[in-house]
Amino acid sequence: MHKIRENLAVVHQRIDRACKSSGRNPEEVSLLLATKTVSAENIKIALQMGETIIGENKVQELKEKFDALKDIPHQTHYIGHLQTNKIKDVIKYAGCIQSVDRLDLAQKLDQRLLREGRSIDIMIQVNTSYEESKFGVSPLGAIPLAKEIARYDTLKVKGLMTIGLFSTEREKVRKCFQLLKRIQKEIAELNLPGFDIQQLSMGMSGDLETAVEEGSTMIRVGTAVFGSRIYPDSYYWNEKAAVK
Ligand SMILES: *Cc1c(COP(=O)(O)O)cnc(C)c1O
Repeated sequence: MHKIRENLAVVHQRIDRACKSSGRNPEEVSLLLATKTVSAENIKIALQMGETIIGENKVQELKEKFDALKDIPHQTHYIGHLQTNKIKDVIKYAGCIQSVDRLDLAQKLDQRLLREGRSIDIMIQVNTSYEESKFGVSPLGAIPLAKEIARYDTLKVKGLMTIGLFSTEREKVRKCFQLLKRIQKEIAELNLPGFDIQQLSMGMSGDLETAVEEGSTMIRVGTAVFGSRIYPDSYYWNEKAAVK
């Protein structure tokens, strides 16, 4: 069996086990494949196995792989830091932007979408680990940002996204996920127009069990399926620390 197939089976097993042990229905938890640096050919292997959601971090990669994958039904989410000058391409190639984390981005997205007469699904990215190297609105800024975003009819808010603390101390990582869940609940209670924030996109290769235990509805996995990447994550998560 191909390594990707084998790895996918292991990841699904991990999600299923975590669901069982926390009394959740595995159908509540979807799997997004984080496909940065992964070739279209390898992504196809996973999609042919029945996977349905991929996530890219760079607009360039979105574009490059689009044609090769367009004949296989799937959804593409954008999960990387989004610069406003890339908006036009992102909304062309992605069905959901999980990394909306600031007002000027929301504003510019709205302007562009209005011009095109359409809307898009988004999630609000929250920096629950307070690490400077990570993007996302601060936990305290999340509700004010949500209220601002509610003014834009073109942005359909489906949930919240976070990257947990990088730590081997599980309980510290857990706190990030619990915080995201709490913010979700607070925002949901506001009944903001255009908000249907059921999704909690949290949990990756190293911490997916903890995320499932804390209510994740979407796990984002790269390494555990496709193997390790040649670029450090800082290349994708913080341009200031980018390798050239
Ligand atoms: C790369 C990436 C992931 C997946 O990380 P792995 O540790 O490889 O599973 C998840 N979310 C985001 C935003 C990513 O950039």
